[in-house]
Amino acid sequence: MTRDTIDRHEAAIREATDGFEVTAWIDGTAHSAESGETFPTIDPAVGLQITSVPRCGAAEVDAAVRAASDAQSAWAALAPDERADRVTAFADALRDEADHLARLEALDTGKPEAFADAEIREGLEYLDYYADLVASEAHEHTPVDGETHAYTRHEPYGVAGLIVPWNYPVLLTCWKLGPALAAGNSVVLKPAEGTPLTATRMAQVASEVLPDGVVNVVHGYGTEAGAALTTHEGVDKLSFTGEDTTGEEIMSAAASNITPVTLELGGKSPLIVFPDADLERAAATAAEGIFYNAGQSCDALSRTLVHEDVHDEFLGLFQEAREDWVIGDPLEEGTTVGSLASADQFEKVSTYAELGTDIAELVAGGGPPDSPPSDDGWYFEPTIFDGVSNDSRLAQEEIFGPVASVVTFADYEEAITLANDVPYGLASSVATQDLSLAHRAAADIEAGTVWVNDYARFSPGLSFGGYKRSGIGRECGPEALEEYRQSKTISMAIGTTDFDSLS
Ligand code: NAD
Repeated sequence: MTRDTIDRHEAAIREATDGFEVTAWIDGTAHSAESGETFPTIDPAVGLQITSVPRCGAAEVDAAVRAASDAQSAWAALAPDERADRVTAFADALRDEADHLARLEALDTGKPEAFADAEIREGLEYLDYYADLVASEAHEHTPVDGETHAYTRHEPYGVAGLIVPWNYPVLLTCWKLGPALAAGNSVVLKPAEGTPLTATRMAQVASEVLPDGVVNVVHGYGTEAGAALTTHEGVDKLSFTGEDTTGEEIMSAAASNITPVTLELGGKSPLIVFPDADLERAAATAAEGIFYNAGQSCDALSRTLVHEDVHDEFLGLFQEAREDWVIGDPLEEGTTVGSLASADQFEKVSTYAELGTDIAELVAGGGPPDSPPSDDGWYFEPTIFDGVSNDSRLAQEEIFGPVASVVTFADYEEAITLANDVPYGLASSVATQDLSLAHRAAADIEAGTVWVNDYARFSPGLSFGGYKRSGIGRECGPEALEEYRQSKTISMAIGTTDFDSLS
């Protein structure tokens, strides 16, 4: 089994990287790091190095910001429909490249290739959406009084620095690229050091359809390339997705230049299972909510809050639903749980699982599978802990792995108190058949998204973002466009002309 998997990955790496060099991408051309330094990127499903990547720092970030700045005014000067056409052409060119991108993404992240493919195609819809949005905008004047003509212009910030994590590299990049480009910004993208492949390919594709310098990519570590980007005076807007503690650093760095920031941070999202819920459906939601992407999702439903009357029945159904989440080689059809994205992530998840066995009841999973697809991959079994206290670290901290914590509640007030009693407020889900209860809970939960009898139904038109430590600002939906532009009021006196003198 292990040998087959390794052979498959070796062949896939050879094929996917044939003629494809992973470089920084600045002003439409490939760049290495001035220092000559590189770092490896690893396929976590088998522990093989895929390739090496330039370890960029301040010099490359500076070159990228200059290139972006030089390209930006001409890009912003395009009429909205012309710019929209170019963004749509970019999305179409990426669609033609989707199979290759999905293969690269699966190799880099360890996620099932079929999921990578679906996420990438979903991401491209966001490029289309923002292109359509700016092309179809109507600008109205603002009534002030009869003597004044007043209106609002929406102008891009200029150069947008985009920093993304490793869990959904293409999708999260598209969430930022769509509104940033459509609004008229040029961008410098810093992908996560663990997943550099697809960003490079996207930039290469951008060069075929967008002016040089509009999309630039710098690779490297957060404290080097990332920090150089967040402190650069030429960056006019920052959009960051990642951990809340990193978000603190980004915000402090941005403060020195008063650079506006959008922060999409972590979560510890609850699924509340009320006693009237369709329990089979709720169990399927609970399983998808924590086992999709091996739980490495910001919006993962990592706390399952269950009414005490239905606890036992629900737990049985949750265990059954768990069986649908099958560990396997990410490159094989039918795999629904791939490898965790890195050795670090495996260590982190294992530590929480050990803690869980001390403070709660392990119902399923709890460690790596007995026969993993590869002994050198970072596979972790879908895991369920029951009897978890909401005060414990298991329920309070973001594990970012396939580890569900089941907490029991007695009544509505307690359910809402538990749901809100975490530092985060990104997403949530409510399982009930009672419409009034659903709407009441949706109003009472402190989170940027509430799904009802569902999980992770995203759409380009729906905004996404966090309350509390889960972030500032919104991605997706029309609101995200405003994250990448600022408004200007123009007010003009029109009542002073002496019309008689014109005749
Ligand atoms: P991370 O914060 O470690 O890194 C994210 C990115 O920031 C990487 O590109 C990294 O290189 C860069 N970075 C790190 N330190 C930096 C610094 N000092 N200055 C500038 N850049 C820096 O996060 P991660 O581990 O890659 O991603 C997982 C986290 O992302 C989780 O907390 C998850 O919840 C969150 N996330 C949030 C959303 C959302 O939409 N809210 C979506 C996906 C992931």
